[in-house]
Amino acid sequence: MRIILLGPPGSGKGTQAQLLIQRYGIVQLSTGEMLRAAVAAGTPVGLKAKEIMASGGLVPDEVVVRIISDRIDLPDAKNGFILDGFPRTVPQAEALDELLKHKHLKLDAVIELRVNESALLNRVETRVAQMRERGEEVRLDDTPEVLTKRLASYRNQTEPLIHYYSERRKLSTIDGMMAIDEVTRAIHRQLLALGAVEPKTHARSAAKAAPVKKARASKAATKKAAKKATKTARKPAKSAKKAVKSAVKGPKKTAKKAGKKTVKKAAKKAAKKTAKKAVKKGAKKAAKKVTKKRAKR
Ligand code: AMP
Repeated sequence: MRIILLGPPGSGKGTQAQLLIQRYGIVQLSTGEMLRAAVAAGTPVGLKAKEIMASGGLVPDEVVVRIISDRIDLPDAKNGFILDGFPRTVPQAEALDELLKHKHLKLDAVIELRVNESALLNRVETRVAQMRERGEEVRLDDTPEVLTKRLASYRNQTEPLIHYYSERRKLSTIDGMMAIDEVTRAIHRQLLALGAVEPKTHARSAAKAAPVKKARASKAATKKAAKKATKTARKPAKSAKKAVKSAVKGPKKTAKKAGKKTVKKAAKKAAKKTAKKAVKKGAKKAAKKVTKKRAKR
């Protein structure tokens, strides 16, 4: 699956991209992130982009088209990708069409996240004020002043892409002001309608794809808990009751660390299940042993 996420800065493209890559096993190609990495590493591209990025301007097309083209060729992008922050102008969209054609790849969909600009500015103002209060470093281009400039640049240079992709029947518009998981669900529905994803992925609820950190923590906690539960339940001296009890104790601890109610529930459930299985297995083994012994007698 190959899709483009379109939306002004702060519209939640990055958050949605993270959720989509988890769900569909594809990669996120963010020109902003790649450029920031180049700046941090002090590469020639980074040196060229640094000033432009800090002022909220656009890095030259040939630079971003090249980095995207090279990135698409890497093996991890074979399964599909989400373009985030690229293309940003009609010439970049035309260049993308060309390079995809050249690579014999097809674009499945362009998802536009539509948001209210004044709400975006409020969000950024609050976030920056809070970060400054906590003494945290604020990204150079993440200030209300630069955001105003970036929003204007989006309106003038990127918004024409809505028409560009709508004409090519690729565009799906989604209300980006909804809650994160609602936006994720709406994107999934669109991808289903377009035939870009298999219906079976629909079964994985948006709750699973809810806040990235939560989902990750939950997965890790569940895995850890299940492992611990299996280990404990395998110990032969322990009774079934004890095994389940101690198996459940483990995830409780892990979940406490994660500090999330949902994590606790998921871990507990998984641990109980695994422990039950292991105990069942153990009981079967024991029964077999007894039968064997009897047979020997
Ligand atoms: P982003 O993280 O997508 O908001 O991008 C941060 C900055 O990187 C932008 O303000 C631009 O200066 C630069 N940038 C990212 N993507 C592009 C692009 N496709 N074309 C030109 N400049 C870009």
